[in-house]
This record gives sequence, C-alpha cells and structure tokens, in this order.
Amino acid sequence: MFPGQFMLVSSSIHALLLLCNGMVPSLSQGSALLKRVRYCKSCKAYIKGFDHHCPAFGNCIGQNNYVLFMILLAGFLTTEASYIFCSSQFSRGSQILGGTLFETDLAGSLVVSTLLFSLLQVIWQGVFFTWHLYCICFNIRTDEWINWKKYPEFQFVIQSQPGESFARVMFKNPYDNGYLQNVKEFLSVNG
Ligand SMILES: [Zn+2]
Repeated sequence: MFPGQFMLVSSSIHALLLLCNGMVPSLSQGSALLKRVRYCKSCKAYIKGFDHHCPAFGNCIGQNNYVLFMILLAGFLTTEASYIFCSSQFSRGSQILGGTLFETDLAGSLVVSTLLFSLLQVIWQGVFFTWHLYCICFNIRTDEWINWKKYPEFQFVIQSQPGESFARVMFKNPYDNGYLQNVKEFLSVNG
C-alpha cells in the first residue's frame, strides 16, 4: 500500500461508526478525529487530508503522501526540462530540425518525437504543479475546492437582505491562516 492510503485508526473508525449510526460524537472526540477526512470512491476508503485520487499512481493523494507527491512532480518536471534542453541542443548541433537528418535518420526522429512528448508533459505537469502550490499556500485541497458546497465548514451564509428572498452562501476557507502559516503547517503535518 502506498503511504498515502490512509485507513482510519480504530478511534477514528469508532467516531465514524457513531456518525453512520446517526450518533454524533462529542466535540472533543469527533471534531479533531474527523477533521478533513474525506471519502474516496475509487479506493472506497476514508482518507485524511484527501486531495484527489491519482489514476496514474492508482492511489489517493492525501496528508500522508502529499509532500512525496510534490517531490515526485518537481522531479518529473526537472528531468523532462533537462531532457528538452539537452535534446534541443543535440538537434541544433546535428541540424536535425532544419537538415536532411530529420527525414532519414532514426536517431533524429526519435529525438524530435521524445522532445515533443516531454514538452507536452512539462506543460500539463507545470500547470498541475502550480495548482498544488496554490493549494498549499491557501491551505485548500483540490477535492475541497471542487466540492466545497458539500462541506459545511466552507460555507459562509449571508443572511438575506430586504428585497432578497434567499440567503446567499459564499465560499470561506476556515483553514487559511496566511501563506507562511499554511506552508509551515503543510511541511509539519506532511513531513
Ligand atoms: Zn483513492
């Protein structure tokens, strides 16, 4: 099992069972134990600090493996960027892109195709990595950002004004304590 796969320990299961049975555990028990524990449909498991289910790894990304996940992403990006740099230098040196080698030489074709593949990888992984940096800086998880309407702690109700028939629900992140504190918490909790 990948380190991120987090099955609740017995005390947490106890608290969840109480909830499933319609019983709410006491505040001192439940709020701390169930904090940011979300259900992953793919793994059919409760994951602490659940961000998303990663189809590439076939595993959840949660509190236990978030740092590892970011290190892996940074590693992929660095490796691919280095490859793009080196292969473009090679292409330029061999005049693959502008010369006859492009059509005749197998090595040349391989370099160009893998270069383009790496370029695509860097683009989507760069966007993905930037998104997760944002999540870390604002202390929000991808799942919470998408499904915040499912989680009451993110809902800030604005009472209806005269002339309005319904109260409005706004997004408010209760876990956001400022960039520095959020990054500190990410490193201390996940490290
Ligand atoms: Zn999962």
